[in-house]
Amino acid sequence: MQYKVLTYGNSELRKKAVPVKNVDDDIRRIAKDMVRTMYENNGLGLAAEQVGRTESIFVVDVTPVVNSSKGAEKIPDGLEMPAVFINPKIVETVGEICEKEGCLSFPEIFITIKRASCIKVSFLDLQGRERLITAEGILSRAIQHENDHLNGKLLYDHMSTIQKVAFSGSLKKLKQLSKKT
Ligand SMILES: [Zn+2]
Repeated sequence: MQYKVLTYGNSELRKKAVPVKNVDDDIRRIAKDMVRTMYENNGLGLAAEQVGRTESIFVVDVTPVVNSSKGAEKIPDGLEMPAVFINPKIVETVGEICEKEGCLSFPEIFITIKRASCIKVSFLDLQGRERLITAEGILSRAIQHENDHLNGKLLYDHMSTIQKVAFSGSLKKLKQLSKKT
């Protein structure tokens, strides 16, 4: 199954995620459908809120960026792509990185966002095992972006007043569209 990706203006995007109690077949099915939805929409990541769910889950696959980075970007050992993060928690952040980011819930809007360059994140994998990884570069940014979604935080909240004005037309259009669907 493929989900419909909700866009800015839909109040579901503002909900906070609820921790997953048991990593069971239902959760694995949701994660699988989220991965499918992410690929169908050419995204690098997707959080449960973006498909109208409130489980604390996001999925990420940064392989396209890693492959085109000529070795500059790396995927940590032992982490397979697509990666599913259940009940993720960013436990440590180091450094700063400023890069342009997009979001499937904000089609065609890209803004520069300041993120930690290196993070440690704990989570459960699809087998319910506790994991702890260190992520840098694009993976670090993708995880921080998706983790924002689980807290109901959106690209919009990272925009400066000037950016909000600059994108006001696109934002208004998205809001109108979300009311119709
Ligand atoms: Zn997003």
